[in-house]
Amino acid sequence: MWMSFMLFATIILVLLWLFQFVFLESYYETMKIRDMSRAAQQISKKADYSGLGVAVRKIAFDNSFSVVVTDSQCNVIVAENTMGSYSILGNDISYNYNRYIYSLRNKLIDSGKSSISVKPTSRDGDDEIQKMMFVTSMDYENKDVLYIFIEASVEPIDATATIIKQQLIYITIILFELAFIITMFLSKRIAQPIASLTATAEEFAKGNYSVKFESSGYSEVKQLSDVLNNAGEEISKVSELRRELVANVSHDLRTPLTIIKSYAEMIRDISGENPKKREEHLEVIINESDRLSNLVNGILELSKLESSERELVPKPFSVHEKLSEVMARYRLLNENEGYNIHFEGDEDAVCVADIQMIDQVLYNLINNAVNYCGDDKEVIVTQKNGEGFVRIEICDHGSGIEEELLPHIFDRYYRAPKAKRDVIGTGLGLSIVKEILKKHGFPFGVSSVLGEGSVFWFEMKMPDGEDSEE
Ligand code: ADP
Repeated sequence: MWMSFMLFATIILVLLWLFQFVFLESYYETMKIRDMSRAAQQISKKADYSGLGVAVRKIAFDNSFSVVVTDSQCNVIVAENTMGSYSILGNDISYNYNRYIYSLRNKLIDSGKSSISVKPTSRDGDDEIQKMMFVTSMDYENKDVLYIFIEASVEPIDATATIIKQQLIYITIILFELAFIITMFLSKRIAQPIASLTATAEEFAKGNYSVKFESSGYSEVKQLSDVLNNAGEEISKVSELRRELVANVSHDLRTPLTIIKSYAEMIRDISGENPKKREEHLEVIINESDRLSNLVNGILELSKLESSERELVPKPFSVHEKLSEVMARYRLLNENEGYNIHFEGDEDAVCVADIQMIDQVLYNLINNAVNYCGDDKEVIVTQKNGEGFVRIEICDHGSGIEEELLPHIFDRYYRAPKAKRDVIGTGLGLSIVKEILKKHGFPFGVSSVLGEGSVFWFEMKMPDGEDSEE
């Protein structure tokens, strides 16, 4: 930043010096020549001799020029000298038989141009006062050619230049100091906060997620640090989640594996010859294997849902059709194990959702209700039609869930501390339900009274239906 500012200041100064010194004189001369050329044009517009005299006088006095108009033989027609004895043209006419005027005219003819400007040498005039000559020709009534000679004094700009030079030295000093101060200020406001953000980011990259991106200065830098803080929080959440996941998974895998191994050893060493015991031990091994495969399937299912590997394929479907199909799966439980799992539906309705995923939701919720149901072994699945949505409730009369545990049961790997021992649970069922319903944007929830049972519910959208307020 400092370098750029200094470079910028240097460029400005170089430009200033160039224009003030190198080009000043030629610029000044160019301006003079332009003035003289304009004056000559004004004179050449005056067609008659009397008008010519007035015009020449006016122009000479207005611009402090000496003006001479001659015929083609350099005989003076009009002459106006505002420079007195300093005028080269005036002196030439008075004392030199127009010799200098002749030479100027010849120069114009030799050059082949319509006008020329000449800087007289010291031989031609006074050394002290610099002069510029401008010569041009004009047609006079298509017969004669007149020559216009204009003399202007060129102010010596050395003195002015010296003043400017001194000023420029001051300007240079001030400009460099200013550039220095502004850079210091800017670096404090921009560069320093960015450098400190970089230092924090390096710390963060090393795995120290507790660092906070602090910033001062411009609002853009503050925004950047806010964004970094947000990103940091997300990364640390993900890292926390990953750690939890690994810990949970390894714990959950280890327990059934240990049980399987020890029961297998027992069969080998002790109960191999005792059919009754062996059956019991094999039953445990089978149960634990089921738990393991449920767990692995659940983890796979959940990670697919979370990584959006599994995209939604919403299709319209009949609620009655779907639920009677699901109910059919539980017929065996009803008939053989004394369960009373039944469906109470409003009028049939069509909903739009990913059918496979909704199937999974119903399956998980009904399975939970079966696992945690009360002694009446009753599970009621209800369909209630609302405006633009269908509400499905899964109700059981089990022990219910404590109020303070309710906010956690949809968390992954969460199992209530007093969850039934004989239930082969993974703590993933409800988190899969949650992911699926969140993906659909369907409202869901649970209400439970301890000792009386629980009601899990969710609401599916009907085609072109309004969303439920809930
Ligand atoms: P899992 O059933 O495999 O333990 P879930 O995610 O399905 O895992 O459920 C999480 C916890 O919520 C369960 O451990 C249980 O304590 C509680 N829960 C779920 N459904 C019910 C229910 N119908 N009645 C009582 N508790 C339930």
